[in-house]
Amino acid sequence: MAQHQFQTEVSRLLHLIIHSLYSNREIFLRELVSNASDALDKLKYLTVADDAYKNLNFDPRIDISFHKDETAGASTLTIADNGIGMNEAELGDSLGTIARSGTRNFLDKLAEDAKKDSNLIGQFGVGFYSAFMVADKIEVISRKAGENAAWKWTSDGKDGYDIESAQRDTQGSTVVLHLTEEGTEYANRWSIEDIIKRYSNHVAFPIYLTYDEKEYDDKGKEKGSKTKTDRINSGTAIWRRAKSELKDEDYNEFYKQLGHDTDEPLFYVHTKAEGTLEYSTLFYVPKKAPFDMYNADYKPGVKLYVKRVFITDDDKELMPTWLRFVRGIIDSEDLPLNVSREILQQNKVLLNIKNGSVKKLLGEFKALADNNTEKWETFVSQYNRPLKEGLYQDFGNREAILELVRFKSSTVEGWTSLADYASRMKSDQKHIYYITGGDEKTLKASPLLEAYTAKGIEVLIMDDEIDDIIISSVGRYKKPSVGEGDSALSQEWELKAVNRAGADEELGEKKDKAAEKEIKPVIEKIKKALGDRVKDVKLSRRLHDSPSCIVADENDPTMQMQQMLKAMGQTEMPDIKPILEVNGDHPIVAGLRDLEDEERIADVAGVLLDQALLVEGIKVKDPTDFVKRLNRLLSR
Ligand code: ADP
Repeated sequence: MAQHQFQTEVSRLLHLIIHSLYSNREIFLRELVSNASDALDKLKYLTVADDAYKNLNFDPRIDISFHKDETAGASTLTIADNGIGMNEAELGDSLGTIARSGTRNFLDKLAEDAKKDSNLIGQFGVGFYSAFMVADKIEVISRKAGENAAWKWTSDGKDGYDIESAQRDTQGSTVVLHLTEEGTEYANRWSIEDIIKRYSNHVAFPIYLTYDEKEYDDKGKEKGSKTKTDRINSGTAIWRRAKSELKDEDYNEFYKQLGHDTDEPLFYVHTKAEGTLEYSTLFYVPKKAPFDMYNADYKPGVKLYVKRVFITDDDKELMPTWLRFVRGIIDSEDLPLNVSREILQQNKVLLNIKNGSVKKLLGEFKALADNNTEKWETFVSQYNRPLKEGLYQDFGNREAILELVRFKSSTVEGWTSLADYASRMKSDQKHIYYITGGDEKTLKASPLLEAYTAKGIEVLIMDDEIDDIIISSVGRYKKPSVGEGDSALSQEWELKAVNRAGADEELGEKKDKAAEKEIKPVIEKIKKALGDRVKDVKLSRRLHDSPSCIVADENDPTMQMQQMLKAMGQTEMPDIKPILEVNGDHPIVAGLRDLEDEERIADVAGVLLDQALLVEGIKVKDPTDFVKRLNRLLSR
């Protein structure tokens, strides 16, 4: 038996792992299974690529078994594979040293931080040594494929290891863990199954568990036990399979298991990227938006795998938040297996995968919008809102998202896109108009729409409470250009809120100087009567039937927005006054011209303002005052 010392780095790493990863020690099984799977992958490759291995009888599998002994420290857990195996030299190199460069620096850094931050260690492949968190002695019996000799590596994980000659019938490695007293919990059928299902269910090779099952006679008396072997991973990894091999049913079945949904998904997107980055993604959009997606503690449904090994499903960075309704899998070939959360967030590989995935999903949404009315309508009814969130969160994709969001309209039924709106615009129309601040019914009845309707100008009805914030941040809509080169027609419009000063410039019909001059005394009377209740009083160009309306000054928040912010607890906000616009042709307004009774002027002006607020769904500050004025006017 040859005795060997661990390379200093190994001892230090062992020490660190045991002290910093202990609370998450079950990952040791994931690490050993991944090593076994890698060993199988390597041999599988050789059987394809190397003539010397072509005739090898190779049925790749991983076998787990355990022996439970009530004596403290006498239980074992065994993980065996029939993969590539290791010879004497490789056992020493692989399990006695750390070959990677930069290890020493890394360990120096870790030594300082590891106790504070166990995630740091994830930057490093903890691998095989993590088994020393549950074992105080490990044996690895290995035989290299193509060689006849087998070797046994033994270590207590303290300062060194022994290697001696051993017996093994086939190529591969058998790792025997002599469990510590605490590690004994893993000598148990249920915990092994549970850990494998959680972390290694999609490892491509079958994983078998051998266990003893007690047998009972007719009277229920124990009569002995029988050894059984079950396959415990599904190994489907359907996202790694060719699309041509898969049917809708396969995708749907996998979705139900993944998304814990009894319903089928609305649709799925399966992608395999090859080239500089190799990864597979399989995304699903549920038919119904997750009920809790607007809660702060919502857990997004995309899982990260590295080479089929589950890494995390709890990373908010995997997908942008506005796509949090998407469920599915990202499986990368290029990330290290032990990539930690902190590392994930700045990882370029993952960032590229993420960007690619968002683009892919956007393309898929667009295809749905263009080709599948029924599904698209379901999609809009469920996900229009998160798409709008994307408009202000995801600047880089704003143009693409803007093509997907839908709005209601003053002239057409149902949902409309900005592109459709643009195609219906009048030839001389300068802007895209919208109205916000209330439910659909209130908005459609708003006096602000009158002149637009009269002129046949369409106004988008934005009745979602977040529309106000979103759309003012968007500002413009650029129609994707058609054609190429110089003839490409790229048109761009400003989005204008009709409830703001300045949005009425195209409604110029009443921009008649004479009329303005004539009405001036009336305006002055109203201004005087309303005092500081309004920012200004103006002759309106946008009213047809109603006597008055309110608008917000160009850069002021609308009254509705102020009302919403107050409801959300922003009580400190100063009152920003609206501008009152009056319709000079309306008899109520015209009637003020010859009126001199100041009390009556004050009543009329007050009612003009309050009714304009009321139709916009805004609370009147002093309802008693409003009612008194109204009654005085009615009884005259
Ligand atoms: P990593 O897997 O990140 O390289 P490990 O410490 O887990 O780190 O393993 C070190 C090396 O030991 C592996 O790279 C591999 O060469 C070898 N090894 C470990 N387990 C096995 C196994 N079951 N079969 C063959 N080689 C193995």
